[in-house]
Amino acid sequence: MRLMPRDSFNRLIDYLRISVIDRCNMRCVYCMPLNGIRFLPNPDLLTAQEIEMVVRAAVRVGFHKFRLTGGEPTLRSDLVEIVQRVTSVDGVHGLAMTTNAMLLENLAQPLKQAGLTRINVHLDSLNPETVEKQMRWGSFARVWQGILAAEAAGLTPVKLNAVVTAGYNESEVVDLARLTLERDWHVRFIELMPLGGGECATLSVKRYVSNIETRRRIEAGLGPLNELPTENLADESRNYRLSGARGVVGFISPVSEPYCGTCNRMRLTADGKFHLCLLNDDELDVRRALRSGSSRALEEVSAILERAVTMKPTGHHLLEGRSTRDRSMYQIGG
Ligand code: SAM
Ligand code: SF4
Repeated sequence: MRLMPRDSFNRLIDYLRISVIDRCNMRCVYCMPLNGIRFLPNPDLLTAQEIEMVVRAAVRVGFHKFRLTGGEPTLRSDLVEIVQRVTSVDGVHGLAMTTNAMLLENLAQPLKQAGLTRINVHLDSLNPETVEKQMRWGSFARVWQGILAAEAAGLTPVKLNAVVTAGYNESEVVDLARLTLERDWHVRFIELMPLGGGECATLSVKRYVSNIETRRRIEAGLGPLNELPTENLADESRNYRLSGARGVVGFISPVSEPYCGTCNRMRLTADGKFHLCLLNDDELDVRRALRSGSSRALEEVSAILERAVTMKPTGHHLLEGRSTRDRSMYQIGG
């Protein structure tokens, strides 16, 4: 019988997003400042073995959906081992990863062989100059090669995520959506959220573009978007198709259309905390239990995760200007 981990709002929480690192090879304007970042020292990061132990515990508790994220997960030199370990756990049927794809050209095939099922690639624009301006250290050519390598390796369906940012890429959303006419990709537009209270949070408030506006731009350029039936109630993306298109256009609208009521997520940070809600600071430490040397570590980690599920809050306060202050997006994983 499948276990159903429910929080105190009766939401089924069965999706664990695992951040494996806080470092990144990009510096997206709304996510990572250019200066003043203090990354986690390597000994603070959970090891591949420890990540596997958390996944074992999560399966015991009733989780069945898993994703790797970061920072940039491909910067972990042992990423292939992490994928192998996670996907070899009984009860894990598939593993996805969120990445900027800069290093995927060489990694796509080994990751697929290790058991990775599919990827979400973050790409804000098809214009190389905009990519350099908005994603700073990012290179359009390398990301594009990475996406094609992932598709060739069978990490499909390819899903692209673009964060719409006023003064950067908001007029380029039409070109991104146009990709779906020829390709069976999902192109999803994400609303900016302020996290961490620093300069990126300030920019995220100032440069916010509602998905109502983004949708209007796409329809003005490419014709009506036809809503698709919801296959999975916990999917944060509202999905549409342009007439005759092969792919899907999605809108992830945490600000203009919050989806807290159907949230099914728990997050594990790279330094081993269960982060209970993206837009809140509450956390429970799990690293101490993992490193205690106890023969009952698996039971202890399971108990901490059960408590984390029970304590999960609901309802964000973005419109009142409140969000997480202790961590930025790159320290949680999105
Ligand atoms: N580096 C990988 C990437 O960019 O896909 C994984 C980590 S990144 C933190 C995960 C997601 O967070 C990305 O899709 C990115 O678009 C999104 N993101 C980062 N900062 C954001 C912000 N301030 N508001 C909304 N989404 C954000
Ligand atoms: Fe790096 Fe992803 Fe943050 Fe961009 S959004 S800086 S790629 S972690």
